[in-house]
Amino acid sequence: MQGLMQNDPINLVSILQHAARWHSDSEIVTNSVEGGIHRETYAEAYQRTAQLAHALKELGVEEGDRIATMGWNTWRHLECWYAIAGVGAISHTLNPRLSTEQLHYIVNHAEDKLLLVDISFVPIIQANIKQLPTLEAVVVMTDEAHMPEDDLGIPVLCYETLLQGKATEYGWLSLPEDQPSSLCYTSGTTGDPKGVLYSHRSNIFHAYAASGVEGFNANRTDSFLMIVPMFHANSWGLAFSLPMMGAKMVLTGPHMDGASVYQIITDEEVNKSAAVPTVWSMLLDHLNQNNLQVPKLEETTIGGSAAPRSMIVEFNEKYNVDVLHAWGMTEMSPLGSLNRTKMYLDKIPADQVLDYNCKQGRPTFGVDLKIVDDDGNELPRDGETTGRLMAKGAWVIERYYKKEESALENGWLDTGDIASIDPLGFMQITDRAKDVIKSGGEWISSVDVENAAVAHPAIQIAACIGVAHPKWEERPLLIVQTYPDQEVSTKDIMSLLSETFAKWQLPEDIIYIDEIPLTATGKVDKKPLRAQYQDYLTPA
Ligand code: ADP
Repeated sequence: MQGLMQNDPINLVSILQHAARWHSDSEIVTNSVEGGIHRETYAEAYQRTAQLAHALKELGVEEGDRIATMGWNTWRHLECWYAIAGVGAISHTLNPRLSTEQLHYIVNHAEDKLLLVDISFVPIIQANIKQLPTLEAVVVMTDEAHMPEDDLGIPVLCYETLLQGKATEYGWLSLPEDQPSSLCYTSGTTGDPKGVLYSHRSNIFHAYAASGVEGFNANRTDSFLMIVPMFHANSWGLAFSLPMMGAKMVLTGPHMDGASVYQIITDEEVNKSAAVPTVWSMLLDHLNQNNLQVPKLEETTIGGSAAPRSMIVEFNEKYNVDVLHAWGMTEMSPLGSLNRTKMYLDKIPADQVLDYNCKQGRPTFGVDLKIVDDDGNELPRDGETTGRLMAKGAWVIERYYKKEESALENGWLDTGDIASIDPLGFMQITDRAKDVIKSGGEWISSVDVENAAVAHPAIQIAACIGVAHPKWEERPLLIVQTYPDQEVSTKDIMSLLSETFAKWQLPEDIIYIDEIPLTATGKVDKKPLRAQYQDYLTPA
């Protein structure tokens, strides 16, 4: 027997169609690449998406083709995502900050047929075009007036010209639910990048969860600044969940510095936003330097790496902004957990609210989490025991793109993170498994040390790594980058850390460098630091 309900196959473009029909006047506002603020409504975005779909078909795009984009968060990039998936092809986001080797690997592995690119990134493509033989044409996401003159050796087309005169309706396909919609590679901090192939189904489930009260909870009364880039981790699903709920979408384009973010928050009366800690530290720095406030901003989501406790306190106390701490990974579309501590104030003692807020939170329906030991046995949810964090759910990867073998262990994905889960279900990441420091048989959390260090007002970024030690196997070494023109002594940092850590957990030494290396996704890149300082305590 089957249920007797309508069973229309789904297509992600139905989200934008809904926004156009039912939130037709809600806006997409972009601080554009070409300069100036651009506005369009969901109704206009939907019509232009239909025009782009016609253009893609004319260019020979077929179902299942991988169509790459390399772009900032803009209205055109959003139209691309919907049009590509809408015609049954796969939108493959390229991170412009990848190394050339990674770029070549990813485009060739995906066999991208077409690339839609922002003018800012045309030089990257020109420099690499010979190594990207699968590309048949490049579409520059701009108008005729801003078209670059570069010769790429393959056709270079203008986005706006392609749309001109095309019909503003399109006969969207009914697609099977598991039809792939989009492809995103992990940044390959270990080994080659690996492709995560999302489906229409997984993205729609994820968007529902991300939109709900335990998620971003944005609706048409909100002005949401989506800073998380579309070229990393599926834009945290916001490109789908904001139109789904008719929220006003505010997009940064390439302008992600503190001053630009402040300006657009103020001008567009932004009340909610989402970004990684490095972006927020630039905004906070700008606010502090210029004695500014952001009175309309109510809530910021922080994720991608641990939100430092000092950042949460600053947002709460100085700027009256709630912090939603979120955790996830590309392999999870990416949302795994969100922290709405406020829903549990009846259960949490007042003096522990901040401790809870620093945790990574609870999963929404659709994701399940557990912690296990090395043999896969589930560990207690007592808030103390830590273990390998495992995940499963409707938007969690089963296997990587073009891989024969499953990525799962008994049906669960090993996230590579070490975490605890407390009796209220709040999950807390203590470290990435490969970053944990093992000193004399005891574990030291590099995340905790870094978090405590950046609480010092002079420290901008901190990286704690384990380096070889003749007696203790490994000892923590702290590497810091201070704010420009600021100084701090080792003694001061040690005395700050001593407030939180036992003596054996303190770094063996502190190194000051001008620039801590970051990955393509803006996270501290510990690989080169480990390579450079591995023998720091055991010189030959
Ligand atoms: P990449 O490996 O390219 O950085 P992801 O963005 O998918 O790709 O990274 C996912 C990882 O980022 C998680 O497994 C976790 O280690 C880390 N992470 C994400 N959010 C948080 C958070 N709120 N706190 C601590 N770590 C986080």
